[in-house]
This record gives sequence, C-alpha cells and structure tokens, in this order.
Amino acid sequence: MSLIVAKFGGSSVASIDKIKHIAGRIKGMRDKGDDIVVVVSAMGDTTDELIELASLTGHDLCKREMDMLLATGEQQSAALLALTLNNFACSSISLTGWQAGIKSDDSHSKARITGIETGRIKNELKQGNVVIIAGFQGLSPQGDITTLGRGGSDTTAVALAACLDALRCMIFTDVEGVFTADPRIVKEAKKLPQISYEEMLEMASLGAGVLQPRAAEFAMLYNVDVEVLSSFSHNPGTIITEVANMENHRAVSGIAHDLNCARFALFDVPDQPGIAKTLFKTLAAENINVDIIIQSAMRDGRNDIAFTIEEKELSRAIPVVEGLVKKICASGMTYGNDVAKVSIVGAGMQSNIGVAAAMFEALADEGINIHMISTSEIRVSCVIDECHIKAAIKALHRKFELDKIE
Ligand code: ADP
Ligand code: ASP
Ligand code: MG
Repeated sequence: MSLIVAKFGGSSVASIDKIKHIAGRIKGMRDKGDDIVVVVSAMGDTTDELIELASLTGHDLCKREMDMLLATGEQQSAALLALTLNNFACSSISLTGWQAGIKSDDSHSKARITGIETGRIKNELKQGNVVIIAGFQGLSPQGDITTLGRGGSDTTAVALAACLDALRCMIFTDVEGVFTADPRIVKEAKKLPQISYEEMLEMASLGAGVLQPRAAEFAMLYNVDVEVLSSFSHNPGTIITEVANMENHRAVSGIAHDLNCARFALFDVPDQPGIAKTLFKTLAAENINVDIIIQSAMRDGRNDIAFTIEEKELSRAIPVVEGLVKKICASGMTYGNDVAKVSIVGAGMQSNIGVAAAMFEALADEGINIHMISTSEIRVSCVIDECHIKAAIKALHRKFELDKIE
C-alpha cells in the first residue's frame, strides 16, 4: 500500500458538481488500496472575491487579518469535499492547515513552511480516513494563521508529500500537464511528458502559473516525484523529476511569460563605488524585490541604471526611487508598468550554441524591441513592451519548433 498526495486546484472544486466529480476520482484511488492525502484550494475565484470584499473595508489591510480571512476559502472546500466523500461511503476527515500540523514562519501573506508535525495526519490515515487538508495555510510561531502566497496550495501538497514520504504528489488542475507555453495563449503548445526539476523551477519562477515556484523548489530539494495532470480527463500528465541525461536534452523546453513587471530607468547616475549599493540596499530595506538590472557604459563619469520590479510594488516604489534620484544626484528617472518578460527555458541550452541569438532573431523578425536581457545557464529572459507579449510567445514557440515536441 502506497501513500499518494493529490492536490485539486480552484477550478477543480469550483462547484458542488465538480466536487462530486473529484470525490468519485478520489474514491477510485482509495478503492485501489492506497492511502490518500488530499489538498484543496478555495472554490473557483473565492480568494479573489475575499480580497475584493476586504478592500471594501478601507485602504489599510492588515496582513494578519487578511490571512485570517483568506484561509477560510480553503476550509470551505475541504469540508465540502469531506462531506461529499462521506456521502459516497468513503470515510474522510477534513483538517485546517494548523490541525494538520503545518508550521510556517510569520511573514503573513507569503509565509514559508518551516516544518510539518505529521502525527495527526498519520493517525487519521491509520483509522482508514482519506485526509483532506486545506491548502495555502500554516501556523506561525506566535500561533497565528498564515497564508503561503498565491498558488500556495501547490506548496502545501509538495511539502506534505516530502514529509510523509509519499510515492507521488499529483497536482490536478484545469490543463493536462505542463505545456511548452501557456496553452491559453498558444493553441499549438504541446504537453511535456516530463520536465526536470530545474526547468520546472525556472518556468514557474518566470511566470508559468501552473505550479507555485516554491512547490517546484520543495520538489527539487526533497526529490518528490510530482505529476501535473487534469481533473477532467484520465490522460497521463507531466512528470516532474530528475532527468538523467541532460546532454541529450532539448535546447528549449518551454516559453514562460510574466506580465507582473514594472520598469525604472535612472539617468546620469555618478559612476562611483557605493552607488549601486545605496540604490538596491534601500529598495531591499523597503521589501521591494528587484528582478533584472542593467547599467550602461560610463560616459563623462556618469551612466544610466535600469531595473525591473513586480508591477504590484510600483506605487510603493515610486516615492522611494524619487528619493534615491535626489540622494545619488542622478539627473532624472522614468518608470512604467507597460513592460512584460518573456523567457525561454531549457536544460540543453548549456550544450547548444546560438540559442540566445535565435531568440533575439525571432523577436527582431516580429519587429519587437528588447529593453533588457538576463540569462542563467538554462534560460534567457527579455523585457519587451507588454503589448507585444502574445506575438513574442508565439514567434518563439515557432522558432524553437516546440509544436514538434513528442
Ligand atoms: P489551479 O487552480 O488548478 O491551481 P492555476 O490556474 O493556478 O490552476 O494553473 C493552471 C493554469 O496555468 C492553466 O490554466 C494555464 O493557463 C496556466 N499556465 C501557464 N503556463 C502554463 C504552462 N506552461 N503549462 C500549463 N499551464 C500553464
Ligand atoms: N486559493 C489560493 C489562491 O487562489 C491558493 C491556491 O489556489 O493555491 O492563490
Ligand atoms: Mg494554482
């Protein structure tokens, strides 16, 4: 008998009919004799609706109280699924994150799981129950409810699979697996039969919303076999695992994109030691995460510095950067949220020459200007105008012949 962790996302539990559908599926898995731990997200758009509701109370949204509110979404779906399973004569119990022993740090709204006390879960499994756990939530050292950031139920599931030594973590969602690009944008996108931990981590971090980046990180760290698959079909999904022979690996496995980008450019910055430190230490102290940074060549003792941040931080960052422009005696600045990032990801890039050049050529052929470039061993990212993002993704998908992946 094996232990399987199965996570069902918001669209898979969006209505009672859908909950009944997945309950049938879970019962089928249980009837095969495996122990099943289920993790659920909130129903449909519940989390967004709760955020909207909270915004009606005023501007000041205390993060602790927001976590109290948002955690209720997952509790509803967990209890509804347990009620349904029990009505299907499949014995089950629902647990909140803290009842399930999920400990986190205290950074409300983006808490990290620090450990899981699995005693209660193991006990419930021993009693013959399917254990249904509310995803996306933990308990801080102060005893407060935390949430794990948007998409955090993925991380709950992978962390549970790691701590319970599960055979596999199955992430059931509204697409059939991890595709070569977001299938909602590229009709020709192909499902990848498997993808390496490294590639999945890059894809997720670069905007492929199908898995929370921290879930990919956990999977890699603890060697959890993850399968991403559809709640609505029985086709095999994508296996995320160690890929043995990187040498023969394709140069590009997928395209990711991120619309959540904003840009700053600072002009005529004095070219002297300590300026970059002042700039980026100040932003870090304000908890503003900087992504890509470029500095132009020096002319007349001055240069330009440009960088990107998350779009949702833009209004908070503007006064901070304005202050910095004065402090470092730059001549001025511009900013905007009219940019997006498109990235190619592939473990085989390391052993293939000319991959970045092919990316730039594909964008040039579409008349798309590149504002910034950043690279790692297995990815190349370009910041471009947001209005060109769909054309860019499609052009890159064609260029690297991703529709031909088997
Ligand atoms: P869930 O509610 O099940 O967690 P999400 O909406 O968080 O589902 O994630 C699934 C969505 O991720 C898909 O509907 C798809 O539009 C999007 N997505 C983005 N990039 C990819 C990709 N490369 N492969 C598959 N899906 C992707
Ligand atoms: N309900 C949360 C969200 O919408 C967590 C999740 O779905 O994983 O982000
Ligand atoms: Mg998700």
